[in-house]
Amino acid sequence: MKETETTSTCCYCGVGCGVKIRTEKHGLITVVGDEDHPVNQGKLCSKGMNLQYTVNDKSDRLLYPQMRYHRSMPVQRVSWDDALTRTAAVFRTMIDKYGPESVAFYASGQCLTEEYYVINKLIKGFIGSNNLDTNSRLCMSSAVAAYKMALGEDSVPICYDDIELSDCLLIEGANPAWCHPILWRRVEAHKAENPRTRIIVVDPRKTDSAAIADLHLQIHPGTDIILNYAIGRLLIENGDIDHEFIKKHTEGFEAYEARVMERTINEAANICRIAEDEIRQAAAYIGESKTLLTMWTMGLNQSVKGVDKNLSLINLNLITGKIGKPGSGPFSLTGQPNAMGGREVGGLANLLPAHRDLKNEVHRQEVADFWGGTIVSEKAGLTATEMFDALADGRLKAIWILCTNPLTSLPDTRKVELALEKAKFVVVQEISNKPQTLAYADVILPAAAWAEKEGTMTNSERRISHLHKVIDPPGEALPDAEIICRFAKKMGFTSFDYPDPESIYREHTLLTAKTNIGIEGLNYTLIDQHKTVQWPYYKRRNQGTKRLFADHNFHTPSRKAVIHSPDVNFQSEMPDREFPFILTTGRIRDHWHTMSKTGKVSKLKQHINESRLEIHPDDATHIGIMDGQLVEVISRRGNIRVKANLSNGIKPGCVFLPMHWGKLGGSDLHRTNNLTNTLLDPISKEPDFKFCAVQVTPYSKP
Ligand code: SF4
Repeated sequence: MKETETTSTCCYCGVGCGVKIRTEKHGLITVVGDEDHPVNQGKLCSKGMNLQYTVNDKSDRLLYPQMRYHRSMPVQRVSWDDALTRTAAVFRTMIDKYGPESVAFYASGQCLTEEYYVINKLIKGFIGSNNLDTNSRLCMSSAVAAYKMALGEDSVPICYDDIELSDCLLIEGANPAWCHPILWRRVEAHKAENPRTRIIVVDPRKTDSAAIADLHLQIHPGTDIILNYAIGRLLIENGDIDHEFIKKHTEGFEAYEARVMERTINEAANICRIAEDEIRQAAAYIGESKTLLTMWTMGLNQSVKGVDKNLSLINLNLITGKIGKPGSGPFSLTGQPNAMGGREVGGLANLLPAHRDLKNEVHRQEVADFWGGTIVSEKAGLTATEMFDALADGRLKAIWILCTNPLTSLPDTRKVELALEKAKFVVVQEISNKPQTLAYADVILPAAAWAEKEGTMTNSERRISHLHKVIDPPGEALPDAEIICRFAKKMGFTSFDYPDPESIYREHTLLTAKTNIGIEGLNYTLIDQHKTVQWPYYKRRNQGTKRLFADHNFHTPSRKAVIHSPDVNFQSEMPDREFPFILTTGRIRDHWHTMSKTGKVSKLKQHINESRLEIHPDDATHIGIMDGQLVEVISRRGNIRVKANLSNGIKPGCVFLPMHWGKLGGSDLHRTNNLTNTLLDPISKEPDFKFCAVQVTPYSKP
């Protein structure tokens, strides 16, 4: 095999670091950082540095389609034609008998934009339901809704260069030092060079991100809105708001002012369980600064109040007029590499392509006319957790799961297992033979992995990059987009005959014409010439857009940003005598999601190699637990058994578990999501992963 060097983008987090993939003689690859890439200038974190091992190790790869006619039978190897012919026949039967809403696709923020596009087109434009959702629902859907409500568009207005241009960063509900490491290195370098830059971290845990903060507000879980309102109140009282900006470019300030005055700073401090002075210091830092970059991720998003928490933080940018300017703006950190691309093509149950609105009749007609299929239904599809509820009660008959592992990642996972048992027909499209979903599959379709297929992704700052195919997939595995298109043709739909991924991309760009995220005219050659392009892209100028809303012309009907004033009523599962601890969950530094890739790399197991319960030493003493001791953690939904990790970094009354581990050796007793609950934010339908009530007891083997 010829030795080559190709540029690409890391397939883990939403930072979107550039890499160079080198092929070697025996078909193996090595990966290094791309020094010329605007995001990372050659740097990679531990996950990115070890990408080659996930590709070179093919021992767990699915190599050919498999199928069975009854769940009691083992799956058997079949041809692609047989697998897709049968799948199409079953889907057709379900749709004819029970209607288009009896089938669904559950996909992933790791899909390439082209893959999202064809799945979305198939289900919404041809099958006739909106039952496509992805694991981005578990990740970014609260931010999507909040951006739309506040700014009129699901648009991250900033660019990463704003980090170096900011003199005040407020980081809330995020641990970028572990979860977005290369971005964090830019923050660290900026702070080192400019010590007067203020960094405020809001997190119930003392994280590595909090370690370099000028101020760490270690709030009680779930009290973010109260904190943000208290900061807002102080900014108003201290005269640190931008009256002219508020008057000219926003609406809703009067209601907001009334809302934040409902509670004194002392009352807010008591609820947040921090000192009043700490809130005053945060407001002073923000008030003294010329800029304000607010950064957040799952700590705000994954909540029954996820949208409201987002809005309460965005409000701080709006009342200070610190948006659309260098160094300022709201900045939601994307968890997955292409959650943003999925949002662009409308790849969620309540979205349409190019940020069109499912409820808007004109938008639905535009999309239907463009695709030339059936009408687009106005009824929102089932979201992630709703899909599995619908499988359990029989409303949904068939589900196609691709590029995600719901039996580790969805809340109340034992319930998800029961739902899959009841499903009439399950298709699993996967790269690995490890995910537990395969045990429930009637049809298994082997997919190509990163570096084995071509397409595009968009990172957290709207930066589109082109990923080249570098090596062939093993066995008979195919790129995800090709699998979907082959299936669509088996269903009898004619407009899925794309000669290559770029033809899909060109079609997607045409559908963005005359929208706020327009990239019409963009193609792979142009992306390569620019290296990357930030949307919107202007064809005439052949140029992308670094920062949005510089003209303060927001995308709401009034062209003004909306300051929302949600209530602070908290609807999570509260601790009580039986379940006295608040469980919060999250990621660790060297693992990614459900570990189907990082779990293959021994170097990545050296940091933390097993799930452990983080608990405060005072709580541990109270219930008689020592460091390293096996404990049982029980919620109203399930239990797990892990070792205790005594840590002063967590608040008393709270415990923390990493979300990565699923079933190990047939046992699900390390699976954190046995415990979490399915309470959802009423707008975004994002689950409340950061808050549920548990009990912790010492465990000794019977
Ligand atoms: Fe990959 Fe994210 Fe690490 Fe960059 S920061 S190398 S994108 S995992």
